[in-house]
Amino acid sequence: MRKKIVAGNWKMNLNKNDSEDLVNNILNHLDDNFSPQIIFAPPYLFLNNVIELCKNKNNIFVSSQDCSAYTDGAFTGEVSAKMISSYDISHVIIGHSERRKNFNETNDILNQKINQAINNHLNVIFCCGETLSDRNNGLYFDVISDQLLSTVLSLDKSKFSNIIIAYEPIWAIGTGVTATADQAQEVHAHIRRIIKDKYGDAISNKTSIIYGGSCKPANAKEIFSQDDIDGGLIGGASLNYKDFISIIKAF
Ligand code: PEP
Repeated sequence: MRKKIVAGNWKMNLNKNDSEDLVNNILNHLDDNFSPQIIFAPPYLFLNNVIELCKNKNNIFVSSQDCSAYTDGAFTGEVSAKMISSYDISHVIIGHSERRKNFNETNDILNQKINQAINNHLNVIFCCGETLSDRNNGLYFDVISDQLLSTVLSLDKSKFSNIIIAYEPIWAIGTGVTATADQAQEVHAHIRRIIKDKYGDAISNKTSIIYGGSCKPANAKEIFSQDDIDGGLIGGASLNYKDFISIIKAF
């Protein structure tokens, strides 16, 4: 059975007090028997506070939003995977379209980051997704295949077990426009197919593939009910505890 996951990517939002209020509110409103894994991905500065608040909570994990491509040394402002894994942080987001676009992260850089994360025993939430023009030109399967085959799908089979894929169509991120459940399912099935072609049935069936892009309480249930969709990577709606709780309860 695949892991069901709801991850909140806070991006560069909130301050210390807001972030603590958000986590406390979410924890206070969770049912004891909620089903998906919950992953909080706050900015680096708040990671330790979130870890403290989530200590001893079942099925709740903490993720960084990024890690350095380098091991250590003269890289002012960078945070290494080794530093991240020295805290109770289990996941790292790599390949988010905002980092690809705004920080010029190429496949080479992403591969270095993936290797740093895996060498430091972090699970990777690896993002892929097409632009609107890729979609309109019917190129989205090819674009997504390329993004994956030149990065996480070039890993040895043994290393791929630490990978979660997040399908995030760029045209849906932060725009309020969500992929329809059918559009998302079509791409998730494609991703599962290329994982199967590379690593076989067992690994493909075990890999969690989550959807991101304006996922909100109004559409989460329909999206999560699709066969190949194992949860969501939530941006804007993860900053509001009522919305985030509703999305968690959409399973
Ligand atoms: C994201 O940035 O990962 C994301 C899915 O954002 P939003 O939910 O705001 O579209």
